[in-house]
Amino acid sequence: MAYIYDDQNIFAKILRGEIPNDTVLETEHSLAFRDIAPQAPVHVLVIPRGAYTCYDHFALEASDAEIVDFTRAVGRVCEMMGVQADAAGDGCRLIANGGRHGVQEVPHLHVHVLGGRGLGRMLAPAE
Ligand code: AMP
Repeated sequence: MAYIYDDQNIFAKILRGEIPNDTVLETEHSLAFRDIAPQAPVHVLVIPRGAYTCYDHFALEASDAEIVDFTRAVGRVCEMMGVQADAAGDGCRLIANGGRHGVQEVPHLHVHVLGGRGLGRMLAPAE
């Protein structure tokens, strides 16, 4: 089975500069911007510039350079937002929803960086 990427998704449009975003970090292969409907005081989305639908697609098919850049971008965003899980920060939750059961709304890989308050347990019951 192949991953099918829809280049009309809203994050593809952000990457092409067709719609605005509130940028937090730009790197060679990644972009981080604030979520338009934040679920916590800190809610930033980190996306690769490449056309990957979800985390497993990216993990299987991205180049080493893209994977390193993206992973470091997530770490840098945590630090920049002060939500890193070290002695100086209060920690965060990283979420990458995928597909139907993951209830992914935008089919371009994004890691949610959530923090700034207690986030409760990991999973809520399915609706
Ligand atoms: P998911 O359900 O994991 O696909 O999450 C998609 C996220 O994208 C949601 O948290 C939305 O609030 C967010 N979102 C949708 N459109 C935009 C946008 N134009 N700029 C920033 N965040 C967006």
